[in-house]
Order: sequence, then structure tokens, then C-alpha cells
Amino acid sequence: MAEIFYDKDAELDTILGRKVAVLGYGSQGHAHALNLHDSGVQVRVGLPASSGSGAKARTAGLTVTDPASACAWADVIMVLVPDTVQPALFAEAIRPHLTAGKTLMFAHGFNVRFGTLDIPPDVDVSMIAPKSPGHRVRELFEEGAGTPALLAVHQNASGRAREVALSYAKALGVTRAGVLQTTFEEETETDLFGEQAVLCGGVSELVKAGFDTLVDAGYQPEVAYFECLHELKLIVDLMYQGGLSYMRYSVSDTAEHGDYTGGPRIVTEETRAEMRRLLAEVQDGTYARRWIAEDRAGRPWFNETRARERQHRIEVVGERLRAMMPFLRPVAAPQPSSVS
Ligand code: NAD
Ligand code: MG
Repeated sequence: MAEIFYDKDAELDTILGRKVAVLGYGSQGHAHALNLHDSGVQVRVGLPASSGSGAKARTAGLTVTDPASACAWADVIMVLVPDTVQPALFAEAIRPHLTAGKTLMFAHGFNVRFGTLDIPPDVDVSMIAPKSPGHRVRELFEEGAGTPALLAVHQNASGRAREVALSYAKALGVTRAGVLQTTFEEETETDLFGEQAVLCGGVSELVKAGFDTLVDAGYQPEVAYFECLHELKLIVDLMYQGGLSYMRYSVSDTAEHGDYTGGPRIVTEETRAEMRRLLAEVQDGTYARRWIAEDRAGRPWFNETRARERQHRIEVVGERLRAMMPFLRPVAAPQPSSVS
């Protein structure tokens, strides 16, 4: 059984006695900085002067400095800039101030797992990775609830790495929901596999394939959209609340019968074999190497694919239909140039 820590297993005092630099103020960064600040922790946000997020952080009542000054000041440095940016930021702003006894923290193990950082041996290295988008981490905290998170220790120079990470987790509000003990390897490999095979890649391709099949057969795109994308949330909500059995209990017997007959014809032994190949490429570093190279080359394939995917006909019809349902609070993905 996995070891899970709750509020009663963590002391807030440990983190209250330390100065915390939160580098980045995006999805995770704003949630960590604000939740820790609300919990009484001394926090400074580290952002380059050019960042548009600095004004937002200041308006929210936080102290903002450049990343290097935040790292020089802090005892605990939480790295919440994009994974592809971390190696350069580490070399420039973190490493010079990562003196003995400090704690370096992450919300995802990518760079530690794939060895892109030159971390000295006399510091602690740990991870608190919320299993949730950052905006939910903030919203649930404000409601008095929390999201689950993963905890891992990569380096324990002080002998207190886990205690500090757990205390950080308590201030972040995630011990309210449960913090699972894992390793940098397990977190990174399962996270990359999950987003490729199931959560992002698998689901997006499944939705598009279902939609295309119906539209190509002459059905109305609007009907296909509701069937293959809109309703997915309702099904996932049932799974989230009560597992596959509750979802199957809640849908009709005909739908349940179709689940058992159709599902294995879509996710076949060949699909499972391909999942194992995806996982092998994550484990042996092939995937990370390719993504790092693509990023360094200026992301030509990534940008082209993103632009093409945004033009898919399900996106065109979906935008129109969501505009008619304001109660969904429809949003549009920002254009790449306007991302801060
Ligand atoms: P993000 O893209 O939302 O935000 C990144 C932030 O970093 C922005 O505020 C940006 O201005 C800032 N930034 C960019 N370059 C910088 C630099 N050189 N110096 C300082 N700041 C810089 O990123 P995110 O999605 O919050 O991801 C942060 C980390 O959290 C990653 O390791 C990611 O894997 C992990 N994570 C994210 C989520 C999520 O909900 N998005 C969930 C779990 C873990
Ligand atoms: Mg993930």
C-alpha cells in the first residue's frame, strides 16, 4: 500500500521557520505563492523583470524580485517555471545561490529524472506535485479543501528533507486531501506516460476519431460534438465520483453493453502494445531527449502541430456551440503570442 500523509502527519512550524522563493507565477506558481502566503509563510516570487505576471503577483500582495535575488534570500527554492526553461534558469539564477543546507523543490521530476541539472550534494532535493491544474490548487484551498499531491525526496543531505516537504505541503493545503509518497522516477515516468497515452494524447485522439467517423458518415457536426466531446465530461464525472462501476450503473444497460462490446475493439492488444512502447521510450529517456531537442530547435514541429490542431473542425463547431451555453463559462485558449 502507498504511504499517504494527511494534515495530522505534518507540522506547519517547519516551513514557517523558513524563507520560500517561488520561481514562476503561472498555473502552479500563483497557487503555491498565494496558498503559502495565506498560511503565514514568508514568500518571495522570483520573476524576470520582463514578465507580465509580476504585476499580478504584486497586486495580490506578494513580494516579487528577480529570480536570482529570490534564490539568494531563500532557504527553500520551489521551481515552478516550465520544465523546458528550468535548465537555463537553474544555471543562471539558482545554482549560484544553492548553498549548503538549502532545499530545492519541484512540482514535477522531469529535469531531475533526466539529469539536466548540476545539483550539488549538500542540499536537499524534494518534490510536492499537486495532481491537479494550478488553478484548482488555489480554488480548493480558498474553499478549505485541497487537491491530492505526490511527495518525493531525491536528496536528503540534512536528514530532514521529507519533514520540510511535508510542511510545505501542509501550507499549500494538499495534506487536506492526502500526499502520497513516491519517487522522482515514478512521478516523472507515470506523469509522462499518463499524459501521452490517456489524459491528453489518448483522449484527444479518441474524441477526434469518434467525431470524424460520425461527420464523415453524414451526421450533423453539432450532434457529433455533443456525443463525442460534451458528454465525455458527464461520463468522466461519474467515473471520478464512483469509479467505472458507478458510471456503468448510472448509464443505461444498453450503454453498458456497448461499453463491453465496443471498448475492446477500440483499445486492442495492438493499442496496449503501443502503450508499452510509449512507456519504454519514457523510461529510457528517448522521449525526453526528443522533446528537449525540439524545444531547443525553436519547436518547429510543435508549433505547426498546435496550429493545425486548433483548426480541426471539432474546434470550429465546438466554439460556436459553447458560445450558446454561457453557463459553461466557455473560454478560448490564448493565441501563442499573448501567453505571458
Ligand atoms: P506555466 O507555464 O503556467 O507558468 C510558468 C511561469 O514561469 C510563468 O509565470 C512564467 O512567466 C515564468 N517564467 C518563464 N520563464 C521564466 C524564467 N526564466 N524565470 C522566471 N520565471 C519564468 O507553468 P506551470 O504549468 O505552472 O508549470 C510549472 C511546473 O509545475 C512545471 O514543472 C510543471 O511540470 C509542474 N506542474 C504543472 C501543473 C499544472 O497544473 N500546469 C501540474 C503539476 C505540475
Ligand atoms: Mg500530469
